[in-house]
Amino acid sequence: MSKGSIKVNTENLLPIIKKWLYSDKDIFLREIVSNAQDAIMKLKKLAAIGEANIADNEEFKIDVIVNKTNKTLKVCDNGIGMTAEEVDKYINQVAFSGAEDFIEKYEQSKDKEGEIIGHFGLGFYSAFMVSKSVEIDTLSYADGAKSVHWESDGGTEFDIEDGTKETRGTVITLHLNEDSEEFLDIVTVRKTLIKYCGFLPVNIYLINEEKEVKEGEEDKNTPINDTHPLWLKNPNDCTEEEYKDFYHKVFMDFNEPLFHIHLNVDFPFNLKGILYFPKLNHELQSIEGQIKLFNNQVFIADNIKEVIPEYLMLLKGVIDCPDLPLNVSRSFLQNDGYVTKVSNHITKKVADKLNSLFKTEKELYEKYWDDINPFVKYGCLRDDKFYERVKDILIFKDIDGNYKTLKDFADAGVKEIYYVTDKDAQMQYINLLKEEGITPVLLPDMLDNHFVSYLEYKNSDIKFKRVDSFICDNLKDNVESEESLKNKITDIFKSVLDKDAKIEVSPLKSDDVSALFVLSEEERRMAEMSKMFGNMDFGAPKPGETFVVNSKNPLVLKLCELSDDETKTLLAKQIYDMARLSHKTLSGDDMTAFIKRSNELLMKLAGN
Ligand code: ADP
Repeated sequence: MSKGSIKVNTENLLPIIKKWLYSDKDIFLREIVSNAQDAIMKLKKLAAIGEANIADNEEFKIDVIVNKTNKTLKVCDNGIGMTAEEVDKYINQVAFSGAEDFIEKYEQSKDKEGEIIGHFGLGFYSAFMVSKSVEIDTLSYADGAKSVHWESDGGTEFDIEDGTKETRGTVITLHLNEDSEEFLDIVTVRKTLIKYCGFLPVNIYLINEEKEVKEGEEDKNTPINDTHPLWLKNPNDCTEEEYKDFYHKVFMDFNEPLFHIHLNVDFPFNLKGILYFPKLNHELQSIEGQIKLFNNQVFIADNIKEVIPEYLMLLKGVIDCPDLPLNVSRSFLQNDGYVTKVSNHITKKVADKLNSLFKTEKELYEKYWDDINPFVKYGCLRDDKFYERVKDILIFKDIDGNYKTLKDFADAGVKEIYYVTDKDAQMQYINLLKEEGITPVLLPDMLDNHFVSYLEYKNSDIKFKRVDSFICDNLKDNVESEESLKNKITDIFKSVLDKDAKIEVSPLKSDDVSALFVLSEEERRMAEMSKMFGNMDFGAPKPGETFVVNSKNPLVLKLCELSDDETKTLLAKQIYDMARLSHKTLSGDDMTAFIKRSNELLMKLAGN
């Protein structure tokens, strides 16, 4: 037996690594299993060029063996194995200096942004995150090689001696520490293996060493992974059913996805993957996509925003980037040429898919629009290039359920597009507009606010206006009502309302409406901006909001004739609150006053 000490400069790597990586210490399993897989791949390559002998019927595989009593987790492969010299070279020196490297990179940028993607690069050393001690038993493929046994308790000391392993390959035995005994639970190990190694190209078997397998009880012969993931297949060979099954299985989402895009590039860079458009809810806040990033079939992490354009995170999918540099900091990736190419390609593919749907399956595209529009709009806002690619297929649904593009509006000579944000609350305005022959479009989401501003910025010849600014714009064109009637109505409302309230009296198109609030598009957008910056003010009229009284409404006319001041006040206040109610809720106190007043009015009607 010989002893030695591992050449590390950083004292006590282990506690530091443990502290940093505590939240996802399960990556140790990925690192150890992918080493096992590499060892098998290397052997296969050597065999292919006649440098190694392997039996024709030998199954290459990785066994992950749990033993609760011994508190061990073993990862066994029948790959290339290592000689004593190789253990010394690759484990004693390379592995530990790799860990040092890792820490150095980590230390360079202490902030989260500097993190190495998916904590890649820690390698074999990560075993010590979960182990008191680690053993390696290995036999190299090389003719006449002797078996080697290595062990270390994760400090800087190791023992190396002749081993007893009789078959080619490597067994890594982890003696799990007390903090990591969850990895003795077969369910946890299975979950972790599926998470990171669920699509590895070599069969992985999970074995409970203590359990006698009775017939039909547990199938030791079923690998836990899918060695031929769908994304690696030729899109022409994949069926719709396979795409759906894959989606359900990988994302545990039992809704049907709307449609998918299969990414399949070999040249000039390598990129494979499948992106799904999930069925979304309307509010952007509740949309949660998931893009799983793989590197040669090994799972790295979810939603890596440095690699995938941010708006694509609303989708669900898998992306396999074999050439992605992983043991670099995230900020490095942002400026990496390969990453830019990948992300541009994805953007183009997504836009192409949407364009082809629009052109060949317009009805379907319209049907999907409710689900995909937040994604498309967000994409435009985030990425001018994406906007350029989809600008002709942006559609607007009007309140009658018909869809129009910006070109449709332009062809019809429409320069001002009226829109509704809340169909119920804005019904009165919609009715008034309809009388003018205008059918407004629906733009109900928070995002639409930004989106219309963006479209106006991109297209100087169109303007979006919310329906309640229509009357505002047209107020001045209306025939002035009789001056004295106008003054009379103004006086009545002035006497009961806030002195600062802006009151206009105008004959509106419809007699049914007694009064309403209007706000010019510019003022409303200003008010919304200030709301976003914390000036939250619900209920009370916003500055600039004008209270418009309809001088053609019979109730308003009746009000002018009343001699009883008490009823007059009640009615005026009621008309005011009804206008407020018709497009937003009243605050608690105002609502209480409204109900009380309604009761009083009804009592009067009942003759009391
Ligand atoms: P990396 O895999 O990034 O090279 P690791 O620290 O994980 O770094 O491993 C160091 C080296 O140890 C590997 O490059 C490989 O040569 C060797 N090694 C690790 N595990 C195995 C294994 N199961 N079989 C053969 N060689 C292995």
